[in-house]
Amino acid sequence: MTDHDQRYSKAVETDEEEARNIKPPYQTPKGVHDILPADHEYYTFVKKVVRHRLRQAGFRRISTPIFEFTDVFTRSIGAASDIVSKEMYTFKDRKDRSLTLKPESTAGVVRSYIENNMQVLPQPVELYYIEPHFRYDRPQKGRYRQFYQFGYEIIGESDPALDVQSIHLAWKILDDLGIAQIFTLQLNSIGCQVCRPQYVTVLKDFYFGKERSLCAECKHRIDKNALRLLDCKEEDCQILAQIAPKLSDYLCQECKQYHNDVKEFLTELKLSYNENPNLVRGLDYYTKTVFEFWDRTDGAQNAIGGGGRYDGLVELMGGPPTPACGFAAGMERIIANMKREKIRVPKKDDLHVFVAQLGKESKKKCLPLIAQLREAGIKTMGALGKGSIKVQMRLADKFKVPYTIILGLTEVREGTAIIRDMQVGTQKTVPFEDTVEEIIKLIGEEKRDIYSPGEAIY
Ligand code: AMP
Repeated sequence: MTDHDQRYSKAVETDEEEARNIKPPYQTPKGVHDILPADHEYYTFVKKVVRHRLRQAGFRRISTPIFEFTDVFTRSIGAASDIVSKEMYTFKDRKDRSLTLKPESTAGVVRSYIENNMQVLPQPVELYYIEPHFRYDRPQKGRYRQFYQFGYEIIGESDPALDVQSIHLAWKILDDLGIAQIFTLQLNSIGCQVCRPQYVTVLKDFYFGKERSLCAECKHRIDKNALRLLDCKEEDCQILAQIAPKLSDYLCQECKQYHNDVKEFLTELKLSYNENPNLVRGLDYYTKTVFEFWDRTDGAQNAIGGGGRYDGLVELMGGPPTPACGFAAGMERIIANMKREKIRVPKKDDLHVFVAQLGKESKKKCLPLIAQLREAGIKTMGALGKGSIKVQMRLADKFKVPYTIILGLTEVREGTAIIRDMQVGTQKTVPFEDTVEEIIKLIGEEKRDIYSPGEAIY
């Protein structure tokens, strides 16, 4: 082994543990993380499932900008919500305008619906997104400062059947991902502009004189966002919330009927639910139906996603009165649950073949061979550096390829190639021009990775 080879193989063999112990000069800010290739296999799979289910249901994809004018969020989500009051990444641009990284997508989608005049399209307009979001939350397990959500909105129609469809779609996606059984569907109605204000007055009256038993945050909530008193996680606040007046007793006739219809349709679809009078969601824009999928063991702490109806939002943001409903789920939590359930996803990145070569003449033959193999749908990696055959074979082993093609000096001279079965350790020599065909036979026709975007263009 040459000096160079020795150094090369040493670098390849560097113990991963050792590498981790060397503190790098630059690290990600708190609460954000790289999505490394192994995790991307999960992200890709989740995205595929989401896109498939939503396409099937007639939804079309939308991406709103990563940042919007801050007003888009304050106006829609509500100044007293946790998101607006303490979790937004807000900054000034060079012209002193206030911008905010999107903490959720409904506000941006609604802004886009109005700005792009989507009310003239056949209604309802059904849109979905798969996007990064940003919240200045306290980082902890399942809670990050940049995270991905997929979600969808049905804008332009109000009917309990649509709310139920949106719940059913969410359940279908979780089921496709193999984790639906971990979650319970929590359901509530938070009324409308007619009945909710009356209930809020009753609720405030109930809390009058009990302020001392509340956590510091809930003390503020009484005036600013009384509904949130119901879903505080602090034990003392929860005790009071359990005995507080229930919104269901104050729903107007229309909301009551609407909610009963939602439940009836859910039963029709055999979707079981848990009526949860304390589920409020926390954003100002919701009306009537709200729902979340809670972890059976952890409850709200690890909700995978939630949604509901928001009939007043389009109008609130300057559009015509337009009912709507939607859902959003966190992809990091979905993936964490899939891993916990030991769900494995297709590993499409695994290589089929490694091509090892020796010297310039061999490289000249390797380059077109590698291109041909890839063209034929064989996932191929070429070791085109200066390492010896031995070093290259060790690399092939590390990449866990089932086959290696070796083009040494003899093979180049004789017009052949060696195909080595890496698992069994045997090898055979084939005519160079038959190499691709031989490899396809060994890998299996059905395993080829072929995509011809050119053919799809018209
Ligand atoms: P929300 O609209 O706030 O209920 O969020 C919907 C879903 O997005 C949650 O159920 C989580 O799965 C996910 N999510 C929300 N905030 C975060 C965060 N900071 N980090 C990771 N996932 C989040």
